[in-house]
Amino acid sequence: MSNQIAFIGLGHMGGPMALNLLKAGHHLKVFDLVPAALKVLADAGAQACATAAEAVEGAQVVITMLPASRHVEGLYLGDDGLLKHIATDTLVLECSTIAAESARKVSAAAAQRGLRMLDAPVSGGTGGAVAGTLTFIVGGAAADLESARPILEAMGKNIFHAGDAGAGQVAKICNNMLLGILMAGTSEALALGVANGLDPKVLSDIIAKSSGRNWATELYNPWPGVMENVPSSKGYAGGFGVDLMLKDLGLATEAAVHGRATTPLGELARNLYSMLSAQGHGGQDFSSILKLYKK
Ligand code: NAD
Repeated sequence: MSNQIAFIGLGHMGGPMALNLLKAGHHLKVFDLVPAALKVLADAGAQACATAAEAVEGAQVVITMLPASRHVEGLYLGDDGLLKHIATDTLVLECSTIAAESARKVSAAAAQRGLRMLDAPVSGGTGGAVAGTLTFIVGGAAADLESARPILEAMGKNIFHAGDAGAGQVAKICNNMLLGILMAGTSEALALGVANGLDPKVLSDIIAKSSGRNWATELYNPWPGVMENVPSSKGYAGGFGVDLMLKDLGLATEAAVHGRATTPLGELARNLYSMLSAQGHGGQDFSSILKLYKK
């Protein structure tokens, strides 16, 4: 079944996600602050709009994919916020990675206006966005997730219900904090081995079949030349940027403060990535954390 969808935020992730919805036969009205991003979607058959309010007119579903909490709150809330322009009962899918508190705040305001809202952050990066294989980690009412499922399936492969509003953001941040810690720990272990005379490839093979094995040693080794076709073997280009990891670790800190949780390793990882970014590597893949350890 094709839907009338408003898609706002057509960047690295939102652009390809919107293209996949078009390919699945949905009708799209789109908006972004950057004209070039709008043009890509207009050329592919979407209706480009001059404002977000124009894009949501007549929409059955609204999707947003924006940089951070302040952009999401700025768009939806306030006297002339987008929530005021969206028709009652519309399904709103907020896919950006933002603070759980922000997601809950916007969701509560949406519910007051009679809208159904889900936080649906994604995992899988730009490659997953292009291929339509993203993982959606959803917070909100189970019934609303069932309504959203066919639309999410046009952009992703795995869809999880994490719990109530905000739970999608919490689960996403827990995963990414662990990822940041594991990449730093893997780099530390490999550098320790090499400093004591081991070959990084031999050590990686041993760890990959031993109890220290993890996603980095199996699929995303940070040591240059150990694995083909990963960012570390391509000058740390592409992949998931240090500054994006830093943003997510900052959100983990916010969640820790809010939930009074203790996250010493998450904090240490945030500081390490912050140091790496300050050294000018913010745009490189996050596996470049190895540079802090390698002699
Ligand atoms: P991006 O900066 O490439 O895209 C964001 C887009 O939003 C930009 O085109 C910008 O012009 C637009 N925008 C900002 N404010 C707007 C407004 N008020 N109205 C309309 N458009 C507006 O960012 P991205 O890489 O696409 O990431 C989007 C979100 O997805 C972020 O929250 C990010 O953390 C998350 N995410 C990114 C990745 C990744 O690998 N890039 C992976 C998973 C999740």
